[in-house]
Amino acid sequence: MKVLGDNGLLGVCLPEEYGGRGAGLDAPGIACEEVAYADAACAYRVFANNVAADLFLTTGSPEVIDRWLAPTVEGRAVCAIALTEPGAGSDARGLTSKAVPVEGGWELSGEKTSITQAPDADVAIVVARESDSGRISAFVMDMDSPGIARQRFEDPGFRAVGRGSIMMDRVFVPSTHRMGEGGQGFALIMQEFDLTRTLIAYMILGIAHRALDLTIEHVRRRMSFGKPLSHYLGRDLPDRRAPDPPRGRARARRRHARCAFRRPTAHGRGGNAQVVGAAGRLQGRPGVRGPPWTRRVVGGNAAPSAPA
Ligand SMILES: Cc1cc2nc3c(=O)[nH]c(=O)nc-3n(C[C@H](O)[C@H](O)[C@H](O)COP(=O)(O)OP(=O)(O)OC[C@H]3O[C@@H](n4cnc5c(N)ncnc54)[C@H](O)[C@@H]3O)c2cc1C
Repeated sequence: MKVLGDNGLLGVCLPEEYGGRGAGLDAPGIACEEVAYADAACAYRVFANNVAADLFLTTGSPEVIDRWLAPTVEGRAVCAIALTEPGAGSDARGLTSKAVPVEGGWELSGEKTSITQAPDADVAIVVARESDSGRISAFVMDMDSPGIARQRFEDPGFRAVGRGSIMMDRVFVPSTHRMGEGGQGFALIMQEFDLTRTLIAYMILGIAHRALDLTIEHVRRRMSFGKPLSHYLGRDLPDRRAPDPPRGRARARRRHARCAFRRPTAHGRGGNAQVVGAAGRLQGRPGVRGPPWTRRVVGGNAAPSAPA
């Protein structure tokens, strides 16, 4: 985490005054893709901290920014986003975790499940329903607070990152640690999820690219009947880690720009911004240049017309 932070990979879009790089929205995607090429678990850390840092800065109070932003960007804090519950997955509005107003803040109770990084998280952004108003809000919860219990899942993938449950029994959260205005939490998180899905697509591309390169390396080295396996494939193989073809790269960038453009409104309009970016990136890769299956796999058929 510290190495990622020292290299500026955990708050890529943040202004430099907050320890970020002031980069555009495609930068965390490229960071996720390149780190995933080397190590998928590390890429998840890049993904999670960039998202959390962005949320802290854009919706957090001065107290939240003061407490959590620097640790997140510098790699001193592991961040989780806790929305899913045993009885509320796709239908996230069905959540039952509650936030009861008490003097100086809130008490959170309920169970979150399938939360990535829950076992090691230092801080979690937790979505819960305010008991008095019924509004759904997001809260920044210090994972060392009394009343929290965690359970680690036996997870077949991302074992180094970990996934698990968070049980909350009247966990106190200061009033300054509710994100945005009351009732904005659901929209905030779902809007951010649109971006997170793009970042996950980038990570998957990095992993797929690595798998492709390892396969190419193998079929070039493995000998059969006196010749490498690649000899029998009947087609040329791309060079290992070949740079994107310039035209493909430009096309990918255009697609991703559409994704970024649509970001603030995508969820509200039921759009699918993330898959547009993903399709663009896929179409820019050597060896996977935009055949119809790439669009089917990542949903690129839903690509909207270009923004004005
Ligand atoms: C590896 C991994 C990491 C995760 N990390 C996190 C995390 O960090 N934080 C977090 O909050 N959550 C996390 N989740 C939870 C994830 O967000 C939920 O799994 C997801 O919201 C789906 O919920 P569910 O599993 O309860 O499935 P369900 O909602 O029960 O859906 C089951 C199936 O039915 C389909 N379905 C549901 N409703 C409809 C509908 N109306 N029309 C058509 N089909 C439908 C779904 O597509 C799915 O195929 C993670 C999950 C996984 C697998």
